[in-house]
Amino acid sequence: MTNTLFDALMGPRKGEDRDFLILQNGAALSYDDIYRLSGQMANMLTQTGVQPGDRVAVQVEKSPQALALYLAAVRAGAVFLPLNTAYTAAEIGYFVGDAEPALVVCDPSRQARRDDFMPPEGRLMTLDADGRGSLSDAAAACPERHDPVARGGADLAAILYTSGTTGRSKGAMLSHDNLLSNARTLADAWRFTAQDVLLHALPIFHTHGLFVASNVSMLTGGAMIWLPKFDADTVIRLLPRATAMMGVPTFYTRLLDRDDFTGDLVRDMRLFTSGSAPLLAETHRAFEDRTGHRILERYGMTETNMNTSNPYDGERRAGTVGFPLPGVELKITGEDGAELPQGEIGLIEVRGDNVFQGYWRMPEKTAEELGADGWFKTGDLGMIDPDGYVVIVGRGKDLIISGGFNIYPKEVELLIDEMPGVLESAVIGVPHPDFGEGVVAVIARDRTTPPDPQQIMAGLSDRLARFKQPKKVIVIDELPRNTMGKVQKAALRAEYADLFTT
Ligand code: ATP
Ligand code: MG
Repeated sequence: MTNTLFDALMGPRKGEDRDFLILQNGAALSYDDIYRLSGQMANMLTQTGVQPGDRVAVQVEKSPQALALYLAAVRAGAVFLPLNTAYTAAEIGYFVGDAEPALVVCDPSRQARRDDFMPPEGRLMTLDADGRGSLSDAAAACPERHDPVARGGADLAAILYTSGTTGRSKGAMLSHDNLLSNARTLADAWRFTAQDVLLHALPIFHTHGLFVASNVSMLTGGAMIWLPKFDADTVIRLLPRATAMMGVPTFYTRLLDRDDFTGDLVRDMRLFTSGSAPLLAETHRAFEDRTGHRILERYGMTETNMNTSNPYDGERRAGTVGFPLPGVELKITGEDGAELPQGEIGLIEVRGDNVFQGYWRMPEKTAEELGADGWFKTGDLGMIDPDGYVVIVGRGKDLIISGGFNIYPKEVELLIDEMPGVLESAVIGVPHPDFGEGVVAVIARDRTTPPDPQQIMAGLSDRLARFKQPKKVIVIDELPRNTMGKVQKAALRAEYADLFTT
């Protein structure tokens, strides 16, 4: 009997008393601790009535027990379904209604609002930030020995909802083979071994923290510094114990904000990676100046795990997401679906073992985005530079069409970002009576002199065709972001929707 994902991640770790999860306070749990705990939890799931193929929806704080629960669900043949801890009861209600889980696990503080998100007959258990709750109590009474339920190949291991940046979140169905093939590829590409200590400050309800970071570490038998969230003080204190860190761009900007973040602290680190959102060239440069390390930027998504990565050896090129990973095919296509030549901007499509099984209960959406030939339309726009590096230009949904012309926001943003007083910018299109959409530049100011909208407009006038120039420049303190550091352009579009029409 085999369980592809569990056997690969945890099978060889049985009985190993090496440190696996190093906690904020310095205490550590061994691989065997988590192995045994996941056995108890898997038995508990089965006793609770969770059948192979059933969904287990989990909205809990990040703790060692939360990771054990992921392993337990896989081990019991169930489908793990993590939910963002920021979601409100109403939002959970949507996911619970959509996924119909056999069990929902939430923080005890949510239990009082049970009626807001659970069907009356639904099962609910609790797990708090310290790993306590009715789930842990029930698991403690169960035996540790558990024979993994046979699952593998295209059987689902998880359903992960997309971040909802461009619309309503969709449940991406991920199989045992999807997750394992990607973890293997990454472990290899990024040279992970049992000697690695990965600083893990990402949330585990998202593909980056759960599948990229945790799976790679477990597959290779390394340790993780397991932090409930990114907190610069803690990260600076514990980084000297780590060999690698996987982060989102905001991790790096927050570290660079600190004078006590010095190159000495990270002399023994071997790898810093960034993904989930674009890393500004400025951050890339500043990080290298401060530490001597070049951040390795890569590109992934809920539906496909990881698509591309800058090289481990060789040039890590700022402003690019590197090359397609081994086993991943990538092409750029035009509006008619035909492949475009190198250098032209179009839709990024990918194909490979990493590509998901489809959207949960959305057959039409699945048919639209995932062709019978296996090519998945990512919804991202990009191009390939002369040396084969993939450049992400933005999201298809963020493309602005003004007066019949296509405008790629990133082209305008890159110019604005270089101007004095600008920390970063988001260029959006909002309804315009004459042009269909009007270009608006929303600028977050840096801490020096505030940027002057007139000067920005003037600065762009001789560098951009007239139709690409913003019709309005707005300066604010901070761009709206979600928990993964993604700029919420949809929120900005909503906020400025009436700018030209009233
Ligand atoms: P939704 O699909 O619900 O609108 P989402 O696409 O933000 O939300 P995720 O799957 O979490 O949900 O994010 C994947 C997206 O993040 C990619 O499609 C891409 O747009 C963006 N992304 C990831 N890595 C990078 C990167 N290195 N540079 C630029 N964008 C990135
Ligand atoms: Mg998406």
